[in-house]
Amino acid sequence: MPMRTEGQVSHRLCDACGQAALEPFTDLGDIPVLCGVHWPEAAAAAASPAGRMLLGYCPSCAYVRNLAFDASIMTYDTAMDTNLHHSPAFQSFSADLVRHLAGRYALAGRRVVDIGCGQGEFLRELCHAAGCTGVGYDAMYAGSTGPDPSGASFHSGFAPRGRDLPRFDLVTSRHWIEHLDDPFEFLVDLREQAGDRPVFGYFEVPDACYDLATAGWEVIYPHVSYFGASSLFRIAERAGWRVEDTGTLFDGMFRFIEISVNREAWSGQPLRCNGPVNPPHPAEELATLAGFGARHHEQRALWQQRIADLADRGAKPVLWGAGSRAVQFLTLTDRAHRLSAVVDLNPRKWGRYLPITAHRVDPPASLADLAPQAVIITNPAYRSEVAASLADLGVNAELLVA
Ligand SMILES: [Zn+2]
Repeated sequence: MPMRTEGQVSHRLCDACGQAALEPFTDLGDIPVLCGVHWPEAAAAAASPAGRMLLGYCPSCAYVRNLAFDASIMTYDTAMDTNLHHSPAFQSFSADLVRHLAGRYALAGRRVVDIGCGQGEFLRELCHAAGCTGVGYDAMYAGSTGPDPSGASFHSGFAPRGRDLPRFDLVTSRHWIEHLDDPFEFLVDLREQAGDRPVFGYFEVPDACYDLATAGWEVIYPHVSYFGASSLFRIAERAGWRVEDTGTLFDGMFRFIEISVNREAWSGQPLRCNGPVNPPHPAEELATLAGFGARHHEQRALWQQRIADLADRGAKPVLWGAGSRAVQFLTLTDRAHRLSAVVDLNPRKWGRYLPITAHRVDPPASLADLAPQAVIITNPAYRSEVAASLADLGVNAELLVA
């Protein structure tokens, strides 16, 4: 089992393939632990916990993990808001996914369990589109609990383990297994609960190859694991699942895997299965990892300098977006508060402060008066959306993608 003593990280076998020891390769130092939380007071935000990010990788399947992860300092509750559904680009992607799942699996009258359901948007839409019922769990779920008219019912808390989990025909879990200290054990438990019933699973994670091919703003403390095609395939297979398909979504940022057991007994329409039969070789992922450390530290230095230059020439640079990726960016590049503002579409964040750096979040409308000449975003997927919003506000600014 993993042990951490005096800053040393001990030998840990790969969580995904179980075949090689994880090798440390990049140390990001101390970063915010609660990167999805925002505080009413700047001082409390600044005093929030930090934790070390020391990445290790598996030479066999390219699985990546924070070897210094400490589960005891990571908490999930309704104060944390990692909801992506405020963005039209994400809403449209999620609606397409619902249509895909509803068309692929004959779910009418069946039950979907959604583990890490966020605020329930996806499960509600799926129940509505597919005529199924659903049970959603999330410690960050802040809505009303119990059944709702969509056919879904919601629980604010972690999904029960073992036999306490309701019977399910399809288990979905989007952007959750990368948060788990032991994702292998989680998948084994779900496999055991499926028993001899025909069961499918849909899992979605940030794609490691995407995250680690860029500067690494998405390498955040709550993300313990970084999965690519090979490691996600291997961990699911090793946990006893059959892999149906894997691929990337949302401009390559996300990776999905569809898995099954006892699928022959499923009485629904036949699956169009064209997924990989064997785990893909991780050559490309291993090459990406090899360059990550240098790229990350270069980009940190570059953006620190760039923000300073923009501020020095009076361009009043601002950051658009206050999600976890933005929090990481601020921690790594703007501890000196050279940015003129940080804005976000989510009204729950307005007037509140981000962890460690204690930047205040303002509404995008505030940019009309500020008139910045440079607006930075950390996620290229939102480029056209943010450009349109700036045009609506009458802000004529250069849009920079970090
Ligand atoms: Zn491995």
